Amino acid sequence: MDFKLTDSQLKLQAKARDFALKEILPVTHYFDEHDQMPVFLIKKAHAVGISNLSIPKKYGGQGLGLMDEAIVVEEIAAADPAMGTSIFGNTLGEEPLMMSENEAAKQKYLPILVKQPKIVSFATSEPMMGSDVAGIRCLAKKDGNDYVLNGTKYWITNAGYADYCSVFATVDPELKHKGIACFFVDMKSKGVIVGEHIPKLGQRPSNTTAIKFKDCRVPAENVLAPEGKGFPLAMKTFGRTRPIIGSFAVGAARSAMEFAIDYVKKRRAFGQPLSDFQNTQFRIAEMYQKVETMRLLTYKAAWEADNGMDPTITASLTKFYATEAAFEVVNQALQLFAGYGYTKFYPIEKILRDLRVLTIYEGTSEVQRIVVSRYALNEYKPVMPALEDLPSLTGDDLEKVTMNGLDPKQTVWRCRICGALFYGPEPPEECPYCRFPKSAFKKVWPKA
Ligand SMILES: Cc1cc2nc3c(=O)[nH]c(=O)nc-3n(C[C@H](O)[C@H](O)[C@H](O)COP(=O)(O)OP(=O)(O)OC[C@H]3O[C@@H](n4cnc5c(N)ncnc54)[C@H](O)[C@@H]3O)c2cc1C
Repeated sequence: MDFKLTDSQLKLQAKARDFALKEILPVTHYFDEHDQMPVFLIKKAHAVGISNLSIPKKYGGQGLGLMDEAIVVEEIAAADPAMGTSIFGNTLGEEPLMMSENEAAKQKYLPILVKQPKIVSFATSEPMMGSDVAGIRCLAKKDGNDYVLNGTKYWITNAGYADYCSVFATVDPELKHKGIACFFVDMKSKGVIVGEHIPKLGQRPSNTTAIKFKDCRVPAENVLAPEGKGFPLAMKTFGRTRPIIGSFAVGAARSAMEFAIDYVKKRRAFGQPLSDFQNTQFRIAEMYQKVETMRLLTYKAAWEADNGMDPTITASLTKFYATEAAFEVVNQALQLFAGYGYTKFYPIEKILRDLRVLTIYEGTSEVQRIVVSRYALNEYKPVMPALEDLPSLTGDDLEKVTMNGLDPKQTVWRCRICGALFYGPEPPEECPYCRFPKSAFKKVWPKA
């Protein structure tokens, strides 16, 4: 275990921080007010080398890991969570291509994405479905060598400016997840119609639109995953991108905490700085605790992905823990700012609006709970024995018990209904507590 960032990660962090503070922070308020995406910032991020980080070296990319991505995204999101969404949205769009088995498509497109500041979107969601990815209705019909797409995608980040989009569509909605395929669509193709920018509560500098496909032909060479393999590809993508939503949360919460620290030292009430109240100190401590813990979890998920482990569960844990904790941190910051936090003059209200979506996109908090609870209930391997097998020995001579272990000849029975223990060669005819018959007792010692 090593919690230190490497020298190259520290340099990358410094570069991203510099970009965030100099390029993003000064204009974030303007683009929020104007509900407009600063496309030039996505292109600048590409130029300085802080986007598309994980494109492998063999395609000309930097070949960096998810950990590096997490470090960079925290800095960008700290300046503007919306720009975090839009700059990182490119990686989301590229992941299906990078993880595809279609080597020819990788060879064709990844070098272009390295050299040119192209924008790539990702599309699973539709007007009638978001969480239930297996319920995709956008149709992909095979026609000769091509597929023909018909249907509408909704909520697609950067779609208004995208050059390409990883589109998930189904050959037959009845087949559910088994019918889903994935296509790398050139957004200049005939039959691609982009909707108006959707007005939102927050994340206003991040473009979000619908994409309608009307008899849009996609050549077979742009199939990233054939039918049946699209759904697992989408899930694998989320396994790599959900940790990064954790980084959005860390960045946003960290900024809110830093602004709050500054504010409470200067603002006075009842003749003293707010920071002198113990309530303020405790709140700051809790904010700090949450920022640290959410970052640790985010790094762990990224580390798992970088070390060839399946990050799915930690990614989901990160997604719902970090995004919910961040909301609490920013809400607390607003409380400390009180009336001033509620105005547009200070940045807290924007951070609050921007981060509200983090518990929604890339799988809601509820979806993450489904993933984690399914794992915990069905796959997680417990260390402790089942309750009905739990031995609990006793002895008259405590010295003997603690020094030499317990009498191995002792026989212990446990009632499987109420958990009561019985010591003796045979269980009682009836449990003296819950009154279940003898059959309720199970021998828990000696072990069979
Ligand atoms: C700003 C923004 C950007 C986005 N960018 C993209 C993008 O780039 N690409 C893309 O494909 N999508 C994108 N999305 C869509 C996003 O991923 C979906 O909004 C999200 O997955 C939830 O889907 P939904 O809104 O249809 O909610 P629904 O699926 O309709 O869910 C509604 C509510 O029901 C709950 N729910 C649903 N199923 C269950 C269940 N089984 N058990 C318990 N509760 C359940 C949900 O948690 C939620 O609270 C974006 C959304 C926003 C707001």
